[in-house]
Amino acid sequence: MMLVMKFGGTAVDSPDKVKHVATLVKSYKDRGDDIVCVVSAVRGMTDGLLAIADSVRRGDRASIADFVKKALKTHIVIASGAISNKKLKQKALAEVKKTVGELQDVLGGIVLLGEVTPKSLDYLMSFGERLSAPILSFALRDIGVGSEYLTGKDAGIFTDSNFGEARPLMDTTKLRVSHTLAPITKRGAVPVVTGFIGADQHGNTTTIGRGGSDYTATIIAASINAGEVCLWSDVDGLMTADPKIVKGAKVLKEVSFAEAMEMALFGAKYMHPRALEPVMDTKIPIRIRNTFNIKHPGTVITQVPSKDSQRIVKSVSVIRHTALIDVGGGGMVGAPGTAAKIFDALAKNKVNIMMISQSPSESSISMVVRKSDLDKATTTLELSLLGRVIKRINVNDEVAVIAVVGSGMRGIKGVAAKVFGAVAKRDVNVIMIAQGSSELNLAFVVSDKNCERAVNALHDEFGLGKNS
Ligand code: ASP
Ligand code: MG
Repeated sequence: MMLVMKFGGTAVDSPDKVKHVATLVKSYKDRGDDIVCVVSAVRGMTDGLLAIADSVRRGDRASIADFVKKALKTHIVIASGAISNKKLKQKALAEVKKTVGELQDVLGGIVLLGEVTPKSLDYLMSFGERLSAPILSFALRDIGVGSEYLTGKDAGIFTDSNFGEARPLMDTTKLRVSHTLAPITKRGAVPVVTGFIGADQHGNTTTIGRGGSDYTATIIAASINAGEVCLWSDVDGLMTADPKIVKGAKVLKEVSFAEAMEMALFGAKYMHPRALEPVMDTKIPIRIRNTFNIKHPGTVITQVPSKDSQRIVKSVSVIRHTALIDVGGGGMVGAPGTAAKIFDALAKNKVNIMMISQSPSESSISMVVRKSDLDKATTTLELSLLGRVIKRINVNDEVAVIAVVGSGMRGIKGVAAKVFGAVAKRDVNVIMIAQGSSELNLAFVVSDKNCERAVNALHDEFGLGKNS
C-alpha cells in the first residue's frame, strides 16, 4: 500500500526521536509498503522564525544573530546524534550549514530594509521544514532505507499567492506531485517532503497556514492516490473530551470527515482547518497516531465510519479564553445592513468572530471572539458604530464555548433538551446558544468558571467514557 506519513515537530526534536521515526518508517517499508514522508519543523522553530520577524522589524540585530546561532546548534546536535555513518553525517551537516547560511543571508537582507513583507515572511517561515527534512532523509539512509528530500515547492505543490494562508491549486498540484514523487517511490526510495510549503506561479515560496504539514500530507495523498494518510503526532488520537478536564475521556476509534472538521475547529488535536479538504471526496482514510505509543491504533477518520462506531454525540469540546460581546439598540430593529456593518467593521480590523447569535427581535447581536482580539473588537465597535448603528456594547471577558459534536445528532429529537438538561442539573447557566442547520454540532457559551462542570456533565450524560 502507498502510505503518506506525516511527522510533527515534537517527533523530530531530538536525535533519539529522529532515529525512532526512521526505524518506524523502515518497519513499514520492510512490510512492503511504499512510503512518502512529510515532516514539520523541529518543535519551536516556526514560532522562533515568527518571533525573529519581529526582531527584524525592530532592527534588533543581536537577537537575530542569537537566533541563527541557536538554530544552527539545534540542528547540528540532532543531525550528529541521529546519523551514525560518517559520510552521511557529513553530508547532512553540510546541508544544515548551507541552509542556515542562507537563512542568515535572508535575515541580513531584510533587516537592512527594516520591513517584512508577507512574501519575505513566507520565505523566512519555510526554513524550519527545510532544516528538518534533510535530517530525517539522511537518518533513513543511515539505516539502509533509500531516501531523497524535497521542499513542497520541489515536490510540486502549486499555490495561489496568498502568502501565509496560500491555497493549493489542486489540478496542477496533482499532476506535478505525482510526476515528481512516482519515480522516487518506484525506485524503492522514500521521499521526505517538507510540510507547510508550496510555491506560487512566479516560483515564490508560499506557506499554507500554521499547522500546515497535515494539510501537505493530505494534498500529497490526494495527488498520488495513496491508500492511507497517517498523521503521527504526540497524542493517541481524537478524544471524547480534553483529558485535562475529563478524567475518563477516551480515544475515539472512528469519526467521519465532517465530525473531525468540527473537532479540529474546536481544538481536539490542533489540525489545519483545511487539512481534510483534499481527501474529503476520496476514499483515503486518515489515521491519527501517537509516534511515542505505536501500539495504540489511534483514531481513523473516514468518509463513512462503520455502523458500530456511530453515536449521537461523539465528543464534547471546549474553547476557553474567549469573550462575549453583546451589542444592542432599538435602531437595529428592522434595519437591513446592521449585521453587515458590524461584521464588516470587525473584519476590516482583522477580528475573527467565532460564534454569532441574534434574537428575532433583532434588538441585539451577540458574538464570541478570542480574548486576545477583545480590545481590538470593542475599540473598533466604539469608534465606528457606537451612537449610530448601535447604542450599547456589553462585554463578558471570561467565557468558554462548549460544543457537542456528532453527525448522529442530525434529525434526532431531544438532543438539545438532553444537553441543556444535563448542564442545568449541575447548576450551570447558559449564556448564548448556536446550532448550525447541519446539526453536526450544538455550541453554547458558559461562564469560564463553570466550564469544567458543564463538560463533565455532558460527557457523563452521553456516556462518552464507556467506550468509543
Ligand atoms: N511548522 C509549521 C507550524 O508550526 C507547520 C506544522 O507544524 O504543521 O505551523
Ligand atoms: Mg507544528
